[in-house]
Amino acid sequence: MRRNSLCGVLLCGAVAAGAQAQVRLDSQIANLADDLVVANRILYSQGVVDGFGHVSARSPVDPGHFFMARSVAPSGVTQSDIMEFDADGKALAGDTRLPYAERFIHSEIYRARPDVMAVVHAHSPAVIGFGITGVPLRPVYHMSGFLGRTTPVFEIRDAVPAAPETDLLVKNPALGAKLAERLGRNAVVLMRGHGFTAVASSVPVAVFRAVYTDQNARIQSEALKLGTPRYLSEEEAALTQRTMEGLSVRSWEMWKKQAGLPP
Ligand code: MN
Repeated sequence: MRRNSLCGVLLCGAVAAGAQAQVRLDSQIANLADDLVVANRILYSQGVVDGFGHVSARSPVDPGHFFMARSVAPSGVTQSDIMEFDADGKALAGDTRLPYAERFIHSEIYRARPDVMAVVHAHSPAVIGFGITGVPLRPVYHMSGFLGRTTPVFEIRDAVPAAPETDLLVKNPALGAKLAERLGRNAVVLMRGHGFTAVASSVPVAVFRAVYTDQNARIQSEALKLGTPRYLSEEEAALTQRTMEGLSVRSWEMWKKQAGLPP
């Protein structure tokens, strides 16, 4: 009542609407942070990440920002570990916790790809062979149509020709930009002698792609021992992607349960 005496009906209405909008945004961010916690646990439980690897999500409030855990093992990530970063991969003012060294994978992909809302980076052993031999990672079954015709490989030596000897980590914005360039319009980029990065329009679909990139790599490696695989055609890849990614929430719920999380 006291508030009403201080402002006109219209102004008070605007304040109330503003407060409501803020609550909506806060709950959107809380949901996203929760998705990131679940994503970390799933990726660990499914063997895609181990003590290393990370997953991020673009901010629904400020599209130039993104959220990602501080530098901890994915298996133990909780909501309180989630940090917010700006477009340059800098933690928001006041947050002095240690971030992942490779956060520039995420910041530069978000900069280059406005359509990308989530990024997973991992080192799963099954994909490494495809980054180091020149054998292209291609979709072998209906779960991995998002791989399209083939998967690009990021050669870090080509990114820094003047000083090609590195620790292979993408730990500055320039390397992140080169990785994003190699990713192009694809869903997945392999990183020679290191791992891969998968992108998507949501956290659950990014996790779906990361898990099935790993599985495709395992199946393809086995198939290559048996003979010459018959890969999905580009059209089959596109059609299966549309069907299966539309059902990705089913995997998300199942993997969540497998990771020991409540529904
Ligand atoms: Mn890495």
